[in-house]
Amino acid sequence: MSTAATTPPAPERPLPTPTRESQPYWDGLREGRLMLQHCARCGKARHYPRPVCPHCFSMESTWREAPLGGRIHSWTVCHHPFNFFFKSMAPYIVALVDMDAGVRVNAPLRGIAADALKIGVPVRLAFEPVTRDVMLPYFVAA
Ligand SMILES: [Zn+2]
Repeated sequence: MSTAATTPPAPERPLPTPTRESQPYWDGLREGRLMLQHCARCGKARHYPRPVCPHCFSMESTWREAPLGGRIHSWTVCHHPFNFFFKSMAPYIVALVDMDAGVRVNAPLRGIAADALKIGVPVRLAFEPVTRDVMLPYFVAA
């Protein structure tokens, strides 16, 4: 038996499945912009995209481009990825960031060693082209 016959196929990178609510967010990422949903009644920004405002329960919203800066709220170092695609990247950092726009965003953090991280460290969102149609966010030092 050859090893080629027993080698499992390489895992595929999981990709987002845009919904009616989230399509403007994914479209913005593809253009290198962070688009946030804002409630049309109370004006508060929210993230992730969803049909109902968590503050006033309005179902009306608009989309606006947001600044890319924020500060580390928390992070985790992933040693055992949930998906085999990410195994070769481990260990890697996933950060939870308080964005200047008033929402929290989680995404991979690159270019900062885990032992150098502190709550409050300024970071900014960057964009990684993954396929022709998909751009994914990650954080770097500001
Ligand atoms: Zn609202």
